[in-house]
Parts: sequence; structure tokens; C-alpha cells
Amino acid sequence: MLLKAGFRSKLPRVGTTIFTKMSRLAEEHKAINLAQGFPEFDCAPELQKLVGKYIAQGKNQYAPMAGVMALREAIAKKVFIATSKEYHPETEITITSGATEALYVALSTVVHPGDEVIVFEPAYDSYVPAIELNGGIPVFVTLHPQYDWIDWQDVRSKIGPRTKAVIINTPHNPTGNVWKLSDLQELASIAEKHDLIVISDEVYEHIIFDGREHISTASIPELAGRTFLCGSFGKTFHTTGWKIGYCLAPKQLTAEFRKIHQFLVFSVVTPIQFAMAEYLEEPEHYLGLSAFYQQKRDLFNHAIGDIGFTLKSSEGSFFQNVSYEKLTDENDRQLAERLTIEAGVASIPVSVFYNEITNYQTLRFCFAKNDDTLLRAAELLGKVVW
Ligand code: PMP
Ligand code: GLN
Repeated sequence: MLLKAGFRSKLPRVGTTIFTKMSRLAEEHKAINLAQGFPEFDCAPELQKLVGKYIAQGKNQYAPMAGVMALREAIAKKVFIATSKEYHPETEITITSGATEALYVALSTVVHPGDEVIVFEPAYDSYVPAIELNGGIPVFVTLHPQYDWIDWQDVRSKIGPRTKAVIINTPHNPTGNVWKLSDLQELASIAEKHDLIVISDEVYEHIIFDGREHISTASIPELAGRTFLCGSFGKTFHTTGWKIGYCLAPKQLTAEFRKIHQFLVFSVVTPIQFAMAEYLEEPEHYLGLSAFYQQKRDLFNHAIGDIGFTLKSSEGSFFQNVSYEKLTDENDRQLAERLTIEAGVASIPVSVFYNEITNYQTLRFCFAKNDDTLLRAAELLGKVVW
């Protein structure tokens, strides 16, 4: 049936996500998929057994709206050990359907029609639609995909009377950059001065390289008091398909957050929450992740070393950006497609993470893959005629 007046889209500029598109293209052409960010390897058998155990125990009905208490307590403990910040499990921690839901609900909680949100681009693709669906206006601070520092003067110049919030992401998808303490301090001083809410996407908190440390917004009191900290277990435990995340925020913000969360999903898959709670008791289960991924980053970067790409080694996340400007003039969308079809290696064109079509001639490769997959991908890329 077609409506007489036609259908008025709420997201007229949005199509299917690049991740779906590139994964589909990779499948069609039997290409190695270094595009969509997900691990090629499975999660720990012990974690799988725990899920089975809780299913067998009958933990199969609705979880409490805010999440299974054991998991909220385990998160509170983990965050306290890392940051000395206490989040109260009862009133300040909510379990969500992945970080995607946490980010959406946080933005929805904050943004009223006409409110502006500062977005650093390149930006993960779910932020802007979430702002716009709530009538908000994204205001962009544009960074080069291989940027070295943030121009905080530029950030300040983008803040006006309608600015309500800032959304940040460290370690960062897609650049692999990690914010320094000085960046978070700059943010804290701006947020305090203009009374802004911060939405902090920290899903790659445990994937950080070369001895760097993840500096969480939780560890900076001036930020923690005004931040929705969004996390996910998908990246940490190789379980992107389980869609379990969380949001930490002060009591007053959490109360508002839960008003929306309860009508979006009500609650999140029960047995997995119990399993995660038990699995989190052992910090070894996540503290080795940086070393694990650093070896993969180094293997991949070394293997593509002679091709002629220019790159700044990823500081965190499981993504490596490479610039191909010395090799060809093609734009990144065309090149990502050509490499998938002709070379058999799929990547993500970084321009999709920008609001306006840019051509920084950069591709994003996901190195959360087995070593032989990474080596094979590098070999195929090495054969490309530029
Ligand atoms: N934020 C970033 C930066 C991500 O890369 C992703 C997913 N890869 C998400 C949020 C979403 O996380 P989840 O799968 O837990 O919804
Ligand atoms: N976050 C993953 C990435 O950046 C993909 C998630 C998705 O497919 N929506 O590749």
C-alpha cells in the first residue's frame, strides 16, 4: 500500500549501514572481511559453559529492568579497581542491549528538539542518527583520520547557547586514536564551564597499545558527575553477537535514562548477564586483551609494510587506518569496493564516518582476525595493481 501523501522519513539521509553493505559484498565475492569490526575467533569455552549453566538453572525469564544485580555489582567492582570511582549498582548502573542501546538511550535522555551536540568526526555511525531522531543538531569538530592532536580552540568555538552535550569515544573507532589525560582535562573544563552533559563511548577500553592506559571519564570527578559512560562486553570477550552493554551515570541521570530504557527494551537477556557476572570475577579474562591485539596489529602492519600505504600505528581498538594517497587517486568508496571484488579483501572507507563527503583517501582494516587471515589479506593486497 502506498500512502497518498508519501512517507516522510525520519532519517532521509540514512541508508543501510556501511558495515552491512561491506559484509554483504565480502560474502558475495568470497573476500576476506576486514571491514565490519568483529572477531574471527570464538569467545572462551568457559564463558560459553557459564551461559549453558545459567540456562539450565532456569535463568530464562525477564531480568530486572536495570539488569541482573550480580552483573551490576561486578561492573561496579571492576570500575572501582580501575578508576577509584564508586558507581552504586542500585541507582547508577544499567545493563543495556549492547553499547548501541546505551548510546541511543543516553542521547535520547539528554537531547530535546533544537539542542546541539558536539560530535568529533570521524564518528561511529550510530551517534548522528540517534541525535537527529531526538530532534537534536550535531555540530561537528572535524579531525583528520590520522590526527595527532585535538584543536580544543576549535571545540570551544563550536559551543553556543544551544549546546547541550558532547559525545566522545576513546579508544577511537575508526582512527585507533586514544585520548590523553590533557584531552579529558580540556573536555572537563569546557563541560564544567558550559554545563554540558558528556556521553562517553568506551567500548574499546581494554584494547590499548604500547603501554598506554585507558583514561576513563570515570576517573575524572569533574567528568564522572556529568557523564553517561557507555561500555560493551562484545569487544572485551569476543561476543559481539550477544549485545550486552552497560551505562554508568550519576543517580539523577540514571533515573532519567531508565525511563527510556524500560520502554525501549525493558530488560536484557538474562542467562548471559549471570554468566558475565561470574566471568568478570577473574580480571585475567580481560587484562590480557591489549597484548593479544597488539601482536595482531604489529603482524598486520608489518605484513602490509611494503605496499606503499602511509599509516600511523593504531593506539587502541581493533582497527588500523591506512592512507593510500601515494598509490592511487581513487576515492575511498570506490577503492574499498574494488579491493573487495578484485583483491578479495574488504575494508571500510573512512569517509563514511564523516558528515560531508570527504576524501582523505583512507581505509579502515579490522585486525581482530586469525594471524593466517591477516597474512593472507596482506598478501592479496600486495598483489593489487594500483
Ligand atoms: N561504539 C563503537 C565505537 C563501536 O565500535 C561499536 C561496535 N563496534 C559500538 C559502539 C556498539 O557496540 P555494541 O555492539 O555493544 O552495541
Ligand atoms: N562497530 C562495528 C564496526 O565498527 C560494527 C557494528 C555494526 O555492524 N553495527 O565495524
